Amino acid sequence: MGYQGGFSSGPREMHKAICAECKKECEVPFKPKEDRPVYCKDCFSKRKDSGR
Ligand SMILES: [Zn+2]
Repeated sequence: MGYQGGFSSGPREMHKAICAECKKECEVPFKPKEDRPVYCKDCFSKRKDSGR
């Protein structure tokens, strides 16, 4: 069985984290690692947009 596609199907575990960029509290769908900076959706897309 495999779920693919679908926005509101199946609960997704969210983890609270602090954005390394704006220091805002945000939630990420993955477990944040201590040695890895976590970015909120806003900053993440921002970095993706203007990276390199
Ligand atoms: Zn941020």
